[in-house]
Amino acid sequence: MTGLIFTKRLFKRIKYLPLFIHEAAIWQYETCQKCGNAFRIRWHVNDEIWQKVMNVKDDSGGSMCLDCFVKKAEKISIILKDTDIRMELFYGD
Ligand SMILES: [Zn+2]
Repeated sequence: MTGLIFTKRLFKRIKYLPLFIHEAAIWQYETCQKCGNAFRIRWHVNDEIWQKVMNVKDDSGGSMCLDCFVKKAEKISIILKDTDIRMELFYGD
């Protein structure tokens, strides 16, 4: 990774912080337990994948944004395929 990409990412993250805070204050629905992102993409994987990645024996484990879930899966060498994930846009009930 070049220093330029790092600088761009860091700058964008800092620039986005006020919007993140606003979203945290107004969004009453899905929230990632890892990064705190308030997300509008509900997603599903089958129980077997969920349980392996979240290290649970049922559908517990909380709520996680897809990006954090993919990274968590990578850490235990589970590489997801497009077909493993079903997505659904969500704007609140
Ligand atoms: Zn997240």
